[in-house]
Amino acid sequence: LRLYCFDDYRLGVMAPGGGIVDVTSCVGKRVAPIDRMSALIEGWEAVRGDVAAAAQAGEALDIASVRVLPPQPRPSVIVAAPVNYVRHQQEMGGEDGVYRGLVAHTIETYGGFVKASSSVTGPAAAIELPLRGRRIDHEAELGVVIGRTAKDVDRREALKYVFGYLPLLDITLRGEEDRSYRKSFDTFTPIGPAIVTVDEVPDPGGLGISLTVNGQLRQHANTRDMIYGVPRLIELYSSAMTLRPGDIIATGTPQGVGPLADGDEVVLSIDSVGELTMPVTGPRTTSRESRVASSTIPL
Ligand code: MN
Repeated sequence: LRLYCFDDYRLGVMAPGGGIVDVTSCVGKRVAPIDRMSALIEGWEAVRGDVAAAAQAGEALDIASVRVLPPQPRPSVIVAAPVNYVRHQQEMGGEDGVYRGLVAHTIETYGGFVKASSSVTGPAAAIELPLRGRRIDHEAELGVVIGRTAKDVDRREALKYVFGYLPLLDITLRGEEDRSYRKSFDTFTPIGPAIVTVDEVPDPGGLGISLTVNGQLRQHANTRDMIYGVPRLIELYSSAMTLRPGDIIATGTPQGVGPLADGDEVVLSIDSVGELTMPVTGPRTTSRESRVASSTIPL
């Protein structure tokens, strides 16, 4: 199943013909609209049959007639993998790296970081570049949506805690600031257009992933090359924090990261999971620039 959030945070499921069937009634009326997807995921065992039946038999809206929002507009946490592909490590450090002369370590050293939930955006919006004169990159990533409360989960059991997957862009300001700051500006976590439930992606460890900017291929890899695969990421992060239904893990980007500019169009495609198209705008104002350090990272 492909699950959507649309218009005023209504819930939808894709019909076989490609339209969207409204399944908002599958969550309680008292749930705040922005929390509906979290509630749907938390109550999934009780409603999955109804959602599947609606996909087959419900009245479908033309997807072009709705405003597609991020499919999970309010995860309680987005935890993310730093340097989880060897060829990305190689492009970041060393003499020719983005961080010239520095040693880029991997997830085995860095562990993880957190992106602000408020950085989530979706296909109806745009990536807004906040600053002039600083390099801001695309990072193509597989996103994992947690299905049930996870704490101290063994990697051998970890896939049982997954609800589904989504395309995720970890938009990143390059520079010396802390990762959580550089990656948490508003609109820096585009996700969607849908959450694909786990039954449609039995193995997250063999998915082709690619990203184009203005039609030009920038990133092309396979999730089998992750240093820590999805089960080990769930083990690592659930050993530190309690992951809740609807929380998101960003699994790290492969090689090929590069800068974005006003007017670009980014397309991220992941086998079986979907395709996310995002325009890029800005910077529109200069008011923030005096409060953010300059950087030695070249544009
Ligand atoms: Mn990343």
